[in-house]
Amino acid sequence: MEKRPLFIGSEIYRGSTYGDWHPLRVPRVSTVMDLSRALGWLPAQVYVPSPRAKPAALAVWHDAEYLDALVAAEAAQTVTDAVREKFGLGTPSNPVFPEIYRRPATAAGGSLLAGELLAKGGVVYHPAGGTHHGMPARANGFCYLNDPVLALLSLRRHGVQRVAYLDIDAHHPDGVEHAFGDDPECLMISVHEVDRWPRTGVVEGDTTRQTYNLPVPAGLNDSEMALIRKEMIVPLISDFAPDAVVIQCGSDAIEEDPQSRLALSNNAHRAIVGALMHAAPRLLVLGGGGYNPWSVGRCWTGIWGVLNGYDAPEVLPEPAQKVLRALRFEGNSRGRNPPDHWFTTLHDAPRSGPVRQEITNAIKAVLGETRRR
Ligand SMILES: [Zn+2]
Repeated sequence: MEKRPLFIGSEIYRGSTYGDWHPLRVPRVSTVMDLSRALGWLPAQVYVPSPRAKPAALAVWHDAEYLDALVAAEAAQTVTDAVREKFGLGTPSNPVFPEIYRRPATAAGGSLLAGELLAKGGVVYHPAGGTHHGMPARANGFCYLNDPVLALLSLRRHGVQRVAYLDIDAHHPDGVEHAFGDDPECLMISVHEVDRWPRTGVVEGDTTRQTYNLPVPAGLNDSEMALIRKEMIVPLISDFAPDAVVIQCGSDAIEEDPQSRLALSNNAHRAIVGALMHAAPRLLVLGGGGYNPWSVGRCWTGIWGVLNGYDAPEVLPEPAQKVLRALRFEGNSRGRNPPDHWFTTLHDAPRSGPVRQEITNAIKAVLGETRRR
């Protein structure tokens, strides 16, 4: 991995919102870009503007009729009841918004490009990616398209066979498992909150698949995630000997996120990415969930730092603090009186704690699936 890591971004995410009340009303990727630039971490030569995928390119996995409906929804800025019913467009979780086609098609275009950029090896960061709930012919869980699936297909098209997909978002990647759960050359690992939507990804004891789901209880702390990393994630990936590792790095498992009850600090995310930096000749890191504008911006900027070997200063320089101080979190109590460290540092204080028996038991149950194989 001699080449410098590349950052795929786009200005389309700046100011784009799913609507005033929707969890995806907050800025995310634009914060990562602004913070990274304020730290001097994003020079022009490593920044790759994301292309927007055309429907024909998306049709490698998505249904053509669904794609037509998505394009039409953007043009009309409304959908019929029949379209809402059939494709899940224009619902509370997947509303019609001004960039309803262009924004997800840009994230999808970035993931398709990532597979190409990684053909000969390297590291690519694509924080707008990670829309892991998208289905072939249906919008699902804030996702209109499934860019991780498109990334995996693109890697395959560019000569990569064995791929390890790790998902540490608080929610189970139902769309990605739908596509790759039965693929013997794709190792799938997901750590997600138990009994949370979409309620898939249970421990199934299925020894015929390379798919490992670890549902974890509310309050998951850094010590527990460190054990999961050391005992399960790293050994499974290392034993699989993948040609590429893809990490969906949703930040909604962090304590202050409004969409889960997990309690990690962003140190857990950086430790996982750091541990997998050299697990394969190719590494693609995607974003995912993350609905507290400060948590997601700080977490994902810190991950870009890890990929580059940069260490953030303990106290952020003024231009970086300015980016964080300008963020607003309307309609959420967490936005009313943000703690000072959300402005002044990238790194959370560690959230260590006791390792609960149910975590060690769950790891054993999942690893038992490999031993019986
Ligand atoms: Zn999520």
